[in-house]
Amino acid sequence: MRSRYYGTPEQLGFTEALSVYHYITRHLGKTIHRYDRFLIDEALMTPANLDCFNCHLVHGRNCCEKGQPYSMDGENLELFEEHAFAILERHTHDERVRLAKEKGVFEQTRDTNYYASIRTHNGNCLYLVEENGKRICSIHRYALDNGIDPAKLKPFSCSLFPLEIIECDEGILVTAITEETESFSRWGDFYRSTYSCVNPLRRPPNTPAEFFNEAGYVPAWEWGRDLLAAYWGKETIQEFEKLLPLVK
Ligand code: SF4
Repeated sequence: MRSRYYGTPEQLGFTEALSVYHYITRHLGKTIHRYDRFLIDEALMTPANLDCFNCHLVHGRNCCEKGQPYSMDGENLELFEEHAFAILERHTHDERVRLAKEKGVFEQTRDTNYYASIRTHNGNCLYLVEENGKRICSIHRYALDNGIDPAKLKPFSCSLFPLEIIECDEGILVTAITEETESFSRWGDFYRSTYSCVNPLRRPPNTPAEFFNEAGYVPAWEWGRDLLAAYWGKETIQEFEKLLPLVK
C-alpha cells in the first residue's frame, strides 16, 4: 500500500495509509469522482475562511508559529534553495542569517519524521517574521516583491492548506481537511482541536465580529484553486470543477 503526501517526499504512516484506503473505498462513485488519475472529493466544498492575519489575535498563535513546514520536493525545493539565504538577508534582522549559514536552513528531527524540513527558530518556522504588527511568511513577501509566484517558492504544503492531496495506489486524492479526513491528513488535528479557519465551531466565544467573519467562509476549493491551476494547468482544474456540483 503506497501513499505519499503530494508535494513532499513524505510517506503516510501505516495507520494513515489504511485510513485513506478505507475513505476512498467508502466514497468512490458517491462523493469522490474519478477524472483521469485524480480522485476529486466533494469535501472540497467544505467552508473555510483563511483569516490568517487575525489568527494570532484569536487563537494566540497561527499555524506558522510553534511549528515548521512539511518537507519540499522537486522544482519547488530547487527554486526555494536558490533564494533561501537572500530571503533571510532581506527580511530578518536578527541572528537567523548567521545561524542558517552555520547549520543550514533545513533540519531533520523526530518532529520532521526525519525528512529535511525548514528549521525552527525560537520554536517558530525560520521564515516567519513580524512586519507592521502582523506575522507574515517572508518567503511569500519576497516572492511578491520579486515577481515570483509564491505558490512556486513557498513550501507546497504551506500553500496547499486547507486542501489535502494524497498520491496512492487508487489515484491522486484531492480533498480538504474535514472531520473525516483528519484521520489521514497531513494537517492532523487542525479540524477537531485547533483553528476556526477550517472549523467555525472552534471560533472562541465573544470573538469580535470582524475576525473569522461568517461571510468569509467559502468552499475550501476556492482557497486552493489557483495553486492547483499553477501546477496542473487551467484545463485540468476546469475538469475538476465539472465534478464539484456547487461550483458555478
Ligand atoms: S514557510 Fe512561510 S507559510 Fe510555511 S510555515 Fe514558514 S512562515 Fe509559514
